[in-house]
Amino acid sequence: MSEYIEVAVALPIEETFTYRVPDALLPLAEPGKRVLVPFGSRKITGYILGNAIPSDHYEIKLILDILDDAPLFPESLIAFFKWISEYYLHPIGQVIQCALPKGLTLCDAAEIVLTDQGKTALSDSLNPLEQKVLKQLETGGVSLKTLIKKCNMTTSLIQLMQRRGWIVRQQKLKGAKRKRKTFKDPFGEPIEPDTAPILTTEQHEAVSRIMNSLKGFSGWLLAGVTGSGKTEVYMRLADAVIRQGLGVIVLVPEIALISQTERRFRARFGECVAVLHSSLSGGERYSQWRRIAQGQAKIAIGARSAVFAPFDKIGLIIVDEEHDSSYKQDNDLLYNARDLALVRAKLSDCPAILGSATPSIQTYYNTGIEKLTEINLNCRVQERPMPQISVVDLRKIRDFRGIRRFISPELHQAMSQTLSKGEQVLLFLNRRGFAAFPVCAECGASLRCEHCDISMTLHKGDNAYKCHFCGFTRSSGANCPTCGSYNIKFLGLGTERVEEAVKALFPQARVARMDRDTTSKKGALLNILKDLRLNKIDILVGTQMVAKGHDFPNITLVGIICADLTLNLPDFRAGEQTFQLLAQVSGRAGRGDAPGRVILQTYAPNHFSIVSAQAQDFKAFCQREIQSRQALSYPPFSRLIQLRISGQDAEQVREFADALGGICRELKKNASFFHAITILGPAESPISRIAGHYRWQILLKSTSSRLLHEFTRQLLAQKSALPHHRQILLTADVDPLFLA
Ligand code: ADP
Ligand code: ZN
Ligand code: ZN
Repeated sequence: MSEYIEVAVALPIEETFTYRVPDALLPLAEPGKRVLVPFGSRKITGYILGNAIPSDHYEIKLILDILDDAPLFPESLIAFFKWISEYYLHPIGQVIQCALPKGLTLCDAAEIVLTDQGKTALSDSLNPLEQKVLKQLETGGVSLKTLIKKCNMTTSLIQLMQRRGWIVRQQKLKGAKRKRKTFKDPFGEPIEPDTAPILTTEQHEAVSRIMNSLKGFSGWLLAGVTGSGKTEVYMRLADAVIRQGLGVIVLVPEIALISQTERRFRARFGECVAVLHSSLSGGERYSQWRRIAQGQAKIAIGARSAVFAPFDKIGLIIVDEEHDSSYKQDNDLLYNARDLALVRAKLSDCPAILGSATPSIQTYYNTGIEKLTEINLNCRVQERPMPQISVVDLRKIRDFRGIRRFISPELHQAMSQTLSKGEQVLLFLNRRGFAAFPVCAECGASLRCEHCDISMTLHKGDNAYKCHFCGFTRSSGANCPTCGSYNIKFLGLGTERVEEAVKALFPQARVARMDRDTTSKKGALLNILKDLRLNKIDILVGTQMVAKGHDFPNITLVGIICADLTLNLPDFRAGEQTFQLLAQVSGRAGRGDAPGRVILQTYAPNHFSIVSAQAQDFKAFCQREIQSRQALSYPPFSRLIQLRISGQDAEQVREFADALGGICRELKKNASFFHAITILGPAESPISRIAGHYRWQILLKSTSSRLLHEFTRQLLAQKSALPHHRQILLTADVDPLFLA
């Protein structure tokens, strides 16, 4: 590299900086390594992006140290980081910081050991510092951190001694080394190597079509019904790609990590798989990252952040269950990994496959305008039938009292039949707790959180009312804060109440519950899944956690307690989310040899989300939904950027939002090309307060993404001119997924 380098710092600053590398460190400088640089009066970490052309307008400072002995990411990723920074309006240094594994400081846990060559060198004439270091090491390995402290060294001097062969650096990370060839799944069971089955006609067709397009960018929607064998298609293609020496990225939704995908790739590909996800320790994450960066691993499987996997050359990117909302990150860098998968595939000249049984509207729309090519898998493998879905109209049993109000006679009967055959039942309700709407029977006030504008939920097991947004808790013996009455009525059903009711209805059955309350402890979720697999559970009650990806052959009945809960959310995607959730949870039934059955209870049997879920017809749903999006000019017919405004003082937040809205209108008035932007708001957010922070929003809408970005950039640049700007957090959410 040249002596002048471009460095991005991990601070909220748009631009990159030029630094100079001292001669001694020049052989160590490489893009993708971290450097320690002087910044104002501080020393901070930055990332080398490449060579820089020095300008004589300002003084160029020297870097202090190079922190890594090998690049953390390949140079080919830098263009991707720059794209993300531009598109998501996020400083490049912070983009890189977000992309890198969190446990990174752990490389300081490396141990430095003296080599034979080093021992010989000790008797030569060395400079005093080198002498000091080697002497330290004579009695055994020392951690890098200690060495830097004791000898007043820099990381780069150590690296230089390493280059001379005097010392070696050993990673001393717990659990980082996997010596044995047998892998274990999260249940602790060994993963046996598998052999590829003979493909079905549909699978074969899908594989050969994509196989013919492995060169250059192409985008695919693999729309396959639940149980149609999409994973097998992914694995065949991955196999072909790694044989060409290229890397493969497989993205899976967060919760599916403990499901089959990782297990099946491991069984097929063994050692060359790296996994990146949140349940790994910092050290493990770092070591997986290094295996990818150094080319030892060829397939990276992980949740959304695996889209940043540091392969130099990529041959295929797969996004399984592409409709899943966990691909959107909702803090710091607000990116969508599904969208970024397509961007990275384009930059890498390789195919991207988005797979789902219930494709998102965005993705389905993209097949219509030929941005993606659609491939269908319409049959389950081994001719297993799709589950049969019957709808129960809850309006007909509205007058029933007690348990019978939400376990209809049809569902009750189907449960009895299923249990008598020794098969399992899954009951789904997308709301946890016992009662979501405690209301005072005297004055009618609802019990609300003190810090959020939202109803508290009664949790009987904990004897408490809880706020699901901030965790604020009150004793379940608390009285009405408005009139003081103790006469509280419980409206709004939650999973805890369903569990209680089911236990009363089927006293012999073994009932378990799976939601965020029962799985918050480490290992709890795994225990439930394990019990389910060992048939130690007869009835499982759960929230959307049960809908995703799990494959339990003995579940033959799925009961959807109330399908309407997500239908009425104040969000234009409510219908889409409801359809996906219902179709996915239905897909949990009948995955084994016995056929499956679904009973779907609803107050709105004619709503098209519900009708198309019953027919398991995602095309019918998408076509209808696309029409209504077009009528309202919502995505995919327009692009959105949501400006989120929050702060602790209600008045300040309102004033700031007003002023920001004023600037929006000003900008639009002054530049004719901004006329194509629609400004909605400022308005109080649907949930107007969370954890003591008042929330307002402005929604910007346009058919031109470029225009919308330019507008927002100009807007954000004026933040410091607005009242109370130091007290207010302003973020721009590009392509927001949840508008609440
Ligand atoms: P999907 O991801 O589409 O829901 P899976 O990939 O999980 O479906 O496949 C469902 C089941 O069928 C898995 O147990 C898988 O091992 C099996 N399977 C997939 N393809 C075949 C095939 N060609 N022959 C036999 N079994 C298959
Ligand atoms: Zn009251
Ligand atoms: Zn709260």
